[in-house]
Parts: sequence; C-alpha cells; structure tokens
Amino acid sequence: MTAVALDQLGMEFAGTPVLTDITVSFPEESVTAVIGRSGSGKSTLLRSINGLVRPTQGRVEVLGQAIDYERLPALRRRIGYAVQGTGLFPHLSVRSNITLPARLANWEAPRLEARVERLLDLVHLDRELLDRYPFELSGGQQQRAGLARAMILEPALLLLDEPFAALDPLTRLDVHEQLLELQREEPRCILLVTHDMREAMKLADQVVVLEQGRLLETASVEELKARHPNEEPERILLKLLGEQA
Ligand code: ADP
Ligand code: MG
Repeated sequence: MTAVALDQLGMEFAGTPVLTDITVSFPEESVTAVIGRSGSGKSTLLRSINGLVRPTQGRVEVLGQAIDYERLPALRRRIGYAVQGTGLFPHLSVRSNITLPARLANWEAPRLEARVERLLDLVHLDRELLDRYPFELSGGQQQRAGLARAMILEPALLLLDEPFAALDPLTRLDVHEQLLELQREEPRCILLVTHDMREAMKLADQVVVLEQGRLLETASVEELKARHPNEEPERILLKLLGEQA
C-alpha cells in the first residue's frame, strides 16, 4: 500500500522552478531517505506533503486522499513532522512540548499518559527530564523529545527533515538505533531528508535522489548495494549524481 503518491509535482517560487516533474510514491511501513545537495529541493518536497507549500503543478496524495487545502489541520494530525534543531518551544517544559499535539486534539488524560509512557520507552528518554525546559537537555535528548512529539498522535506518516544533522557523531549513532527500533515496534511510512548517504543507507529501505529539483533516482537500498558492491555510501551517491550530470 502507498502512503504518499506524488504525481508530476512541480513547484515554483516567484517563477523559479524548485521542483520539476516529480512522480514517486512512498510505501506504508517503510523508510525512504530523500537525499541530495543543499538547495536540491528536499525540504520543499517534504513540505508539499504536509501542505506547508502548495505545488504549482501536479498532485499530492497522502494516506489515500488528494490534499484538501481547506482542511490542512485534519491532515497534519495524521502526519508527524520533525525538523533539524527539534523545533521545541523553549518556554514550555519537555512534557508540555511532547503532549501539545495531543492536548490540542483533546485527548483524554489516561490515553495521553499511556502514550507518553510508551514514547519515552521507545525513544529512551528518562522520565525525570519531563519537567525540564528544552535548554536543560542535551542535543540528543532534545532530538528524542522532538521525535516523541512528532509521534504522539500515532501518525501513519512521519516526515523528518534532517533531524539528526546537528548531533555529534556518537549521539547520532544512538538516535539511529532508536529510529530503527521504533520502526520495528511501530512501523510507519517515514520520509527522512538527509544529505548523508551513509545515514540514508543505514536507516532507509528506499532512497530517492534529488538534484536541482528533479528526481535522479529511486532505488531500494538492496538494489543500490547490489549495483555498487563494496562501495562506500558516499561514493555511491557521487556516482548517482555524476552518472546523470
Ligand atoms: P534543500 O532542503 O534540498 O536544501 P530547499 O527545498 O530548502 O532545498 O530549497 C530548494 C530551493 O528552493 C532553494 O533554492 C531555496 O532557496 C528555494 N526556496 C525554498 N523555500 C523557498 C521559499 N519559501 N521562497 C523562495 N524560495 C524558496
Ligand atoms: Mg532542507
């Protein structure tokens, strides 16, 4: 089953094309890495899926329906979204940050409590951190809190825009493991924007390569490994970018 389908998607900002003729679909319960150089249109692609930007051409279908731009809040309740630097509200406690979407959706307290408990286990965040403010957490802890918030409404779709880019290498490895574990425990469609091919090949089932707003490649990680045996991920990406240049 398909979670997201983009059909001949085009996006222009002030007449400048940023995305051109993108047709691709993202399966349920699988991780797709969206990779490409800075400025290649990765974030715009992600934002077109939760309606933060409206494409100038083509069609976006999310969880079985074309986006209804009159009803974006309903759509966004079904989509978790986390960006680099976590996007946590600095003046809210970690608990308030994590539970905000569920409180806005009027969840009953017992359901909310149960979900928070589960998420803390899933992202390995200590309960004693809940009453702190985001600045009192390490970068890795903040990132985990951001992930927990993105997942609180049990979204079928999770959009992650370079969520791990600001983490130090060891913390990053840690958070990678948690994401893999999370996907085993609660499988969903995850779109992970990254510029790190090693991260892409480690975390994703499928890789989509963007270059100057165009889709260069869509391939499963298995296929990429088979096509480029014994190559380092970075080399594989350079080849993918170079082959088509
Ligand atoms: P990436 O995430 O791959 O670095 P982006 O999707 O952020 O790329 O941006 C792609 C291109 O679109 C860039 O040239 C950027 O400057 C431009 N762009 C992104 N958002 C806007 C906007 N709101 N208005 C005008 N140009 C934008
Ligand atoms: Mg970006």
